[in-house]
Amino acid sequence: MTKEELIKEIRTVKDFPLEGILFYDITTLFKSAEALECLGDILYEMYKDKGITKVVGIESRGFIMGPILATRLGAGFVTIRKPGKLPAETIEESYKKEYGTDIIQMHKDALTEDDVVLVHDDLLATGGTMKAAIKLVNQLKPKQTMVNFIIELKKLEGRKGFPKDLEIDTVLSL
Ligand code: 5GP
Repeated sequence: MTKEELIKEIRTVKDFPLEGILFYDITTLFKSAEALECLGDILYEMYKDKGITKVVGIESRGFIMGPILATRLGAGFVTIRKPGKLPAETIEESYKKEYGTDIIQMHKDALTEDDVVLVHDDLLATGGTMKAAIKLVNQLKPKQTMVNFIIELKKLEGRKGFPKDLEIDTVLSL
């Protein structure tokens, strides 16, 4: 499948979860066996030579392609979760959303200083979630951190404000 064909598989839903928001529904992308396989192949080609030892997925849409990619790369998979979900000792970061503040957590022993980390989420909108995730991951001082999204919403300019030397790659740009 071409990237244009993958984009056609994404359903847009008006006024979800709030009025005025156009939501990019990726469940339609994942339900296609062909699209799912193609996404896995593209991600593998992007990251196969980067020495990645851990893929970190952000709850919850980062938990779909994250483990698929980790398996292909021979890497481990780590979860970043909302508060109160992880059972052992955690570290956390808080970040501002349009309405109020959100917190994300990760197990304190999830990464080591020898890890080469790819932080993965489905979609880059304003970038707030990923910026907090990078701060969280970097608390554990891995050797290197990279960032991946399936979709980037270019108009929202979410790439602004990330550290300049951070490698950020996306599969699809809308
Ligand atoms: P940001 O923090 O970049 O503004 O928002 C990105 C986060 O919100 C991601 O975790 C993503 O899953 C979710 N998100 C925001 N808008 C959409 C959307 O239109 N579609 C999907 N699938 N996720 C979205």
